[in-house]
Amino acid sequence: MTHIVQLKRMNKYFGKLHVLKDIDLAVEAGEVVVIIGASGSGKSTLIRCVNGLEEYESGHLEVDGHKLAPKGGNQESLAEIRKEVGMVFQQFNLFPHLSVKKNIMLAPMKVKSANKTVANATADRLLERVGISDQADKFPSQLSGGQQQRVAIARALAMEPRVMLFDEPTSALDPEMVGEVLDVMRELAKEGMTMMVVTHEMGFAREVADRVIYIHEGQIVEEGKPQDVFDNPQNERTQAFLSRVL
Ligand code: ADP
Ligand code: MG
Repeated sequence: MTHIVQLKRMNKYFGKLHVLKDIDLAVEAGEVVVIIGASGSGKSTLIRCVNGLEEYESGHLEVDGHKLAPKGGNQESLAEIRKEVGMVFQQFNLFPHLSVKKNIMLAPMKVKSANKTVANATADRLLERVGISDQADKFPSQLSGGQQQRVAIARALAMEPRVMLFDEPTSALDPEMVGEVLDVMRELAKEGMTMMVVTHEMGFAREVADRVIYIHEGQIVEEGKPQDVFDNPQNERTQAFLSRVL
């Protein structure tokens, strides 16, 4: 089996706060892993470590065969890892001064030296794919939240990532826009994209996840197929959490 993301006994601290504790996690090619847990349990920190947005203190972290060393170690694979990992945030994080189209073209041209014609064609194809071809020349502030998040997904896809990380991609959206973003994510999953998704959308998790991971205070305390975790949680922390959110 091909592991796209692999974490072994990974530990992360913020000062004295032990945020991630002995995380063991291997994500296979094409797998969709949904990470759930209470606020402050370490979900964002976990996925931010995967693309090197946060450093970690000890253990092993590898993305598509590129090892990213703990703090103080050899970071030379960081640029390569960033190219292969797409990230979508709660707050879209689009470039406000660039048109939708240019938001999508920028990274391929800067980081991968794609020529303008190719980057433009890729952007057109991706805008079509996320259903907003008609918004190409607008600025982010002229779009709805749901449209902005779809641009953010298209922008990440333009780098042809091996894995996509989503950190609560629908949490900042008005309820009526959640569905359009989840639809795009569902399509991506169907097409075989490897995905790690932090979300509170339990319906999405149940339907799309191959595996659900429950984190409590920086530890993976339960994982399994969605049916098993949701319908028959074994750990009492998971039971308590699910009884609050379901
Ligand atoms: P979650 O995404 O599950 O809500 P986070 O990963 O954001 O949790 O945070 C986990 C813990 O780490 C929390 O206690 C949070 O306050 C703390 N934390 C997160 N980011 C930082 C930071 N940059 N500096 C210090 N503490 C942080
Ligand atoms: Mg978070």
